Amino acid sequence: MAKLKYLVIHCTATPSGREVSSGEIRAWHTNPVSKGGRGWKQVGYTDLIHLDGEVERLVENNEDANVDPWEITNGAKGYNSVSRHIVYVGGVASDGKTPKDTRTKEQKLAMETYVKEFHRRFPKVRIIGHREVAAKGCPSFDVQAWLKTIGINQ
Ligand SMILES: [Zn+2]
Repeated sequence: MAKLKYLVIHCTATPSGREVSSGEIRAWHTNPVSKGGRGWKQVGYTDLIHLDGEVERLVENNEDANVDPWEITNGAKGYNSVSRHIVYVGGVASDGKTPKDTRTKEQKLAMETYVKEFHRRFPKVRIIGHREVAAKGCPSFDVQAWLKTIGINQ
């Protein structure tokens, strides 16, 4: 097992206002490719932040500073063994493709609470957006700029 190094923030890349269930995400990630899924063994994120700010745990985690084999999620190629991935529902405009920060007031608050608590417990773990380690729009906002607005300087 490896030491936790990154908390990576993602979006579900779904249009503003559309709710996504944990079952849907699980199906997208773990269904066989022949059934339109990605064929992964595990869902890609540890926690899911719903539109109403509810945080749903998708993959068991003992909350220590290591990434145990059963805690690994498939959020970002090359970083999974040292990362925890979290995701908010949303991230694209109503056209279904243009990256957009669609976080609701409740999601922003839930994410702020989550990230602050995480940073308090793991001050050396770097908090990043998916796009900082991949050529993607995800999570459709500048995580480093947002962290400064909530008082986290890493
Ligand atoms: Zn992502």
